[in-house]
Amino acid sequence: MPAKFVLIGSGLAGGLLAAYLGRRGYEVDLYERRADPREGNIVGGRSINLAISTRGIHALEQIEIADEALQQAIPMRGRMIHDKSGALHFAPYDVDPKKCINSIGRASLNTAVIEAAQRYPNVRVHFNHKCSDVDLDEPICHLETATGKLAVHGDAVIGVDGAFSAVRESMRRKINNFQYDESYLAHGYKELTIPPAPDGSWQIERNALHIWPRKSFMMIALPNPDGSFTCTLFWEFKGPRSFSTTKTDDEVRRFFDEEFPDAVPLMPTLLEDFKNNPTGSLVTIRCAPWYYGDKVCLLGDAAHAVVPFYGQGMNAAFEDCVVLDECLQNFPDSRERAFAEYFRSRKENADALADLAVGNFIEMRDKTASRAFRAKKKLDHMLEAALPGMYLPLYAMVTFSRVPYATAARRARIQDRILYTALVTVTLISILALAVLISRW
Ligand SMILES: Cc1cc2nc3c(=O)[nH]c(=O)nc-3n(C[C@H](O)[C@H](O)[C@H](O)COP(=O)(O)OP(=O)(O)OC[C@H]3O[C@@H](n4cnc5c(N)ncnc54)[C@H](O)[C@@H]3O)c2cc1C
Repeated sequence: MPAKFVLIGSGLAGGLLAAYLGRRGYEVDLYERRADPREGNIVGGRSINLAISTRGIHALEQIEIADEALQQAIPMRGRMIHDKSGALHFAPYDVDPKKCINSIGRASLNTAVIEAAQRYPNVRVHFNHKCSDVDLDEPICHLETATGKLAVHGDAVIGVDGAFSAVRESMRRKINNFQYDESYLAHGYKELTIPPAPDGSWQIERNALHIWPRKSFMMIALPNPDGSFTCTLFWEFKGPRSFSTTKTDDEVRRFFDEEFPDAVPLMPTLLEDFKNNPTGSLVTIRCAPWYYGDKVCLLGDAAHAVVPFYGQGMNAAFEDCVVLDECLQNFPDSRERAFAEYFRSRKENADALADLAVGNFIEMRDKTASRAFRAKKKLDHMLEAALPGMYLPLYAMVTFSRVPYATAARRARIQDRILYTALVTVTLISILALAVLISRW
């Protein structure tokens, strides 16, 4: 008899993991607290679109749904920086123009992975089932529906239920010395819209991720297939100028006119969007272990939620699916070893990504506006072209390769050290040479 997996959460990672497990022949029951996304409910609380790159695409390719899932995706070849005067600066992501990140709708990607899972007759998806608790030793999941409560038993339960995971909460309560750390940014986020032009076209450059960097805060915009852009304002919750002090229409309008004057004429629903759309919070969650014997395991945001500034949370969650699937293949007789190996290989990478993501917020909101930043990016690209395979900028390693995140971070630190030492040496030699020349005159 194949083992039965109970998955909690059919978000991006839950759907994909169900497809991987279904392909491996396991019995899979996937329980989701929300309604079926195909019935048109909005995947509330998270971004409308997101950026998918090499790691996420690789995970879709392994299950042969990449072409179908990416059909509507829009390639973004670089950052389009909007300064306060309205001037634009384009900075490509890579020296190779074919390397890009892709803007994809969360709802359509969610549907694609759920449908991929449902192609396996051994996978069953149950919507409108909310997990309230997990009895780890059995393991049994306690679920709530509109009509009552039920308890489901499996050989293993996997928590793919996002940053505020109920499965993780059950592990926290049960496991002695369970390590848990959550840290919130002082910034929240709000989604706003730039609609299509009257002829249905995109009102700003379609193939770019737009950034309005304003030092302590920023707005970004990603294109959608219908000609619109979803903008996200990342701004302090509190402070003299912040979400908490900007309430009235006049205050909102004044803030946007001052900070994003080129965007305001493109945002006719700005005031309604600002008032009606929720303000989300941004959390990093680290915990350990991610498994309990051969009974329970965590994956995706449930194990390692990160802030969105490297565009990697979902990509990392998809990579988790690939790694867990490989571990189950490598240890067919011991699920506990498979879970342990998956945790061992992913944990340091998830921790590294969490740090990279926080660091990239400062880069996006502040440094992208500076000439020095743009010069460093150009130098990065020159070195990448001149030293193929030897020099890889950090962004390229994270976004366009499957080099483990921790290795990428370490390698980038070493590269930077060598680069700065070389620059200092060249500068000193030049000064010395100049001094010798002057003294001979
Ligand atoms: C503003 C923003 C922008 C982002 N942009 C990007 C990006 O560009 N690129 C990128 O790679 N990542 C991005 N991310 C991160 C990405 O959204 C997450 O990493 C990704 O959604 C994680 O997938 P998941 O399946 O683990 O969790 P989720 O997508 O959160 O799915 C969890 C699922 O579990 C369900 N659930 C929760 N609790 C229960 C319960 N008790 N019982 C049953 N079901 C439950 C939820 O309803 C949900 O469907 C962004 C995040 C934010 C907030």
